[in-house]
Amino acid sequence: MTIRPILIHPDPRLKTVAAPVGEITEEIRTLAEDMLQTMYDAPGIGLAAPQIGRSIRLLVMDCVKEEGATPRPLVLVDPEITWSSEEAATYEEGCLSIPDQYADVTRPAEVEVTWTDLEGKPQTERFTGLWATCVQHEIDHLDGKLFIDYLKPLKRQMITRKMAKLKRERARA
Ligand SMILES: [Zn+2]
Repeated sequence: MTIRPILIHPDPRLKTVAAPVGEITEEIRTLAEDMLQTMYDAPGIGLAAPQIGRSIRLLVMDCVKEEGATPRPLVLVDPEITWSSEEAATYEEGCLSIPDQYADVTRPAEVEVTWTDLEGKPQTERFTGLWATCVQHEIDHLDGKLFIDYLKPLKRQMITRKMAKLKRERARA
């Protein structure tokens, strides 16, 4: 398994609509393993393929955060939201592509998602709580959308400027 570098906003690859995966190949299985490793290492609770520069509809997540609890790594290939609750929930979100920046985002509190697993089997699950927020945030990545796109323009511009500066500093280091 390999830890892959995570793209930092602003990057045109984070604004691109990703293509369907289709057939699950050995390369896709390896990529999913690497993405899980990269996510746990960061550490984070979700990672989408565009964040490591692959423009395909693949994401991983594990929202089990309690110390000592059994991890629940999920790999979602070609996920689709098939139902969203009327009820909304607000969480303070962050993103591995926007380090150390957090803001409240309001989304549907529950969603039903269908996807294909790594064995090529169709899966459906209704997500609630942090899982619901996370899966919506990650599916947004597949559509070239970031959580800061939900914020007011001024706040979004402020964060984008900070990230551009961070990238310049990292490039010089
Ligand atoms: Zn993110």
